[in-house]
Amino acid sequence: DARIVIVGAGHAGGSAAAFLRQYGHEGPIVLIGDEAAIPYQRPPLSKAWLKGEADIEAVELRPASWYAENHVDLRTETAAVAIDRDARTVTLNDGSSLAYDVLILATGSRARRLDIPGADLPGVLALRTFTEAEALKAVLKPGARLAVVGGGYVGLEAAASARALGAAAVIIEREARCLARVACGPLSDFFQDLHRGHGVSLELNAAVSGFEDADGVLTGVRLEDGRVIPCDIALIGVGGVANDELARAAGIPCENGVVVDHQARTSDPAIFAIGDVTWRPLPLYEDRSFRLESVPNALEQAKQAAAAVTGRPAPAPETPWFWSDQYDVKLQIAGLPFEADDVVVRGDPAAAKFAVFHLKGDRVRAVEAVNAAPEFMMGKQLIARATPVDRAKLADPAVSMKAVAA
Ligand code: FAD
Repeated sequence: DARIVIVGAGHAGGSAAAFLRQYGHEGPIVLIGDEAAIPYQRPPLSKAWLKGEADIEAVELRPASWYAENHVDLRTETAAVAIDRDARTVTLNDGSSLAYDVLILATGSRARRLDIPGADLPGVLALRTFTEAEALKAVLKPGARLAVVGGGYVGLEAAASARALGAAAVIIEREARCLARVACGPLSDFFQDLHRGHGVSLELNAAVSGFEDADGVLTGVRLEDGRVIPCDIALIGVGGVANDELARAAGIPCENGVVVDHQARTSDPAIFAIGDVTWRPLPLYEDRSFRLESVPNALEQAKQAAAAVTGRPAPAPETPWFWSDQYDVKLQIAGLPFEADDVVVRGDPAAAKFAVFHLKGDRVRAVEAVNAAPEFMMGKQLIARATPVDRAKLADPAVSMKAVAA
């Protein structure tokens, strides 16, 4: 049976190993990860785990014993440094090399860094890895002052967790609204009000120019307008960058991530790429390509690659989706508001229970649902089936989502 090497022991890589075994692959699987931890889930790092509500077992993707039991050769603290496509080998950072018949790249993405003065001060943190989350958790104490640079999901979740832990929080966002790249105006308004209601201050249209310190200890975030926002901890949450350097160096085409097809295959038939690192087509969106940073995306592509390697039929395309938990609010998003031409709001943002539907013509392209599980679930199906909908019915919460979809 084929020798499979998976580079990147995160959500996608760890899941690919499991799907391969589930689909009947009996040959060797080597799973290479440069972190010290066994594969774990990142979503709790800004939510339940950060708040102290989940232990490490709840965060691990699978129990430590699973890898040996399933003959998966998991090598932590090991990095792949080069791919030789002709020889079909991967070189590791200890100088050794591994032969593969099939290589799966699951190297994820990394936190974008800010190249500004003071960015390397000890109190300036990122939140991507378990180690970084531990560093943040250690300092988020009652009375601590957290400044979040970047009003994206990770930053907003960390601010909510900080408040739950009794720390003060300010969110500094360069754009006019939080979540500007990833959510619609009404949703940004809702989350901004939610955070203000929990005592978080917001600095919008505020560009950060550096970090201030006293004898090497962080004291504040400097804005371009000259103001300094005092803080003890700064969390940088300004998005991610694909870890696609290995693929690029090996001559595999990359855009904003490694270019793959519907089965997660790269231009090299022996090499797949899955998860955050990929630039992937979405059949539901005219086959345009996107880079998605989400757990459902990592799982879908892990299934695609495992199915292709084991000769199974390709799984049916899934509607992309995502979630975020902040305070007692559950946000669920399905689809992408890509090329939508109209928006229908159903429910009442003031009651913290509503959904924003993005339509193109009479088809739903995306739904953003706040504490509105039926809208999310039916919306996801409407997107997948491209079912035409009646706007008046969709906008009326008295008409059930089942009736809207009928
Ligand atoms: P990762 O999980 O990042 O794994 C990639 C791994 O590869 C890493 O361990 C990396 O160190 C390793 N690696 C990289 N290069 C090499 C190399 N050369 N050799 C060896 N190893 C290498 N998604 C949601 O859907 N919902 C959420 O609520 C949500 N919340 C999140 C909260 C936080 C704080 C973060 C950081 C992410 C969140 N996400 C969420 C996103 C989600 O966690 C990612 O989309 C998912 O982890 C992607 O899986 P991946 O395997 O592609 O990448």
